[in-house]
Amino acid sequence: MQPVILDHMPSSLLERPATALHRALDGPTLIHLAGRNPDPLFVSVLQHGNETSGWEAVRRLLKGRYGRDPLPRSLILLIANVRAAARNRRRLADQPDFNRCWPGSDMAPTTWHRLFTEITKHVRARRPFASIDIHNNTGLNPHYAAVNRIEPKRLQLAALFSRTVIYFTEPKGVQSMAFGEFCPAVTLECGQASEVHGTDHAMAYLETVLNLRELPDQPPAPEDLELYHVIATVQVPEDVDFSFDDQAEDLHFQPDLDRFNFRELPAGTRLARSVNGRQISLLATDHQGRNVSDSCFALEAGSITTRRALMPAMLSTDEQVVRQDCLCYLMERISPETVRPEAPLRRPDGAELPETLP
Ligand SMILES: [Zn+2]
Repeated sequence: MQPVILDHMPSSLLERPATALHRALDGPTLIHLAGRNPDPLFVSVLQHGNETSGWEAVRRLLKGRYGRDPLPRSLILLIANVRAAARNRRRLADQPDFNRCWPGSDMAPTTWHRLFTEITKHVRARRPFASIDIHNNTGLNPHYAAVNRIEPKRLQLAALFSRTVIYFTEPKGVQSMAFGEFCPAVTLECGQASEVHGTDHAMAYLETVLNLRELPDQPPAPEDLELYHVIATVQVPEDVDFSFDDQAEDLHFQPDLDRFNFRELPAGTRLARSVNGRQISLLATDHQGRNVSDSCFALEAGSITTRRALMPAMLSTDEQVVRQDCLCYLMERISPETVRPEAPLRRPDGAELPETLP
């Protein structure tokens, strides 16, 4: 499988919502658009087919001001999973998660891995100015940017979108991690796809970055940045029947669990109730692949509670998302003072952080 590479925007493509792109595009498609500054900005949309804010932002931007005026900077646009977008799904049953198939992935290689490796080589050779991968999530979350390395230009690119920035190095095989090897790269999380506010925010951000001459070499001021570090991924064990509406046989989560996103939960916060007497725990896995469930969660009188203070992100109450991806990530705050390029990276408790990138 080869990516389709175009040197123009196909006529009428900008008229199509995400669900109709598959009628014009066969699969993942790169579109080169020339601008006044030839060093291109790379933008990726629809890696997850139901996360439409990125495509909506791009098509509004290109139909609006840049339908009349030349782009201030060249643009390389990746429109990724048009088949899943047609069905308004994150991915289809016969597809892997596209954002786990980029170079650095730890999955068994597939034809998709080869495709995304080709795309990476193609874009790298064009020396992009920066890389922006646009997503939505399903729970109640603030808009935030994510980075895979603590580095001034990357943090500047992230802080232009939101004061809230997440640093993560798991899972592997994500686009921003692969492109971060050769340019400042961020992932944007623009809230829920149904909210026009996410599209507005992404569009304003893209316009800002297209008009930037360069990114500062200094990290953002501490007051402009709240940096969080992902310490674990939480999953529901595969054999556990769970729900958010009290219908499942094993585990009933609180129906509004996503209100806990980006809130520091004290020890003892109840997350779920075990209904048939089974000893069920959530599965929390750290960077090294270690099971850290027992240090995070307790089972008390049939309830799963937090064993210590924890801050979740991307908690979802969509059962399909929880099955296909995860229940949430667990985070801790990194003190902004650690974000000095010359300083070793330290957590507030003084412990050294693990390597910033594999
Ligand atoms: Zn996504």
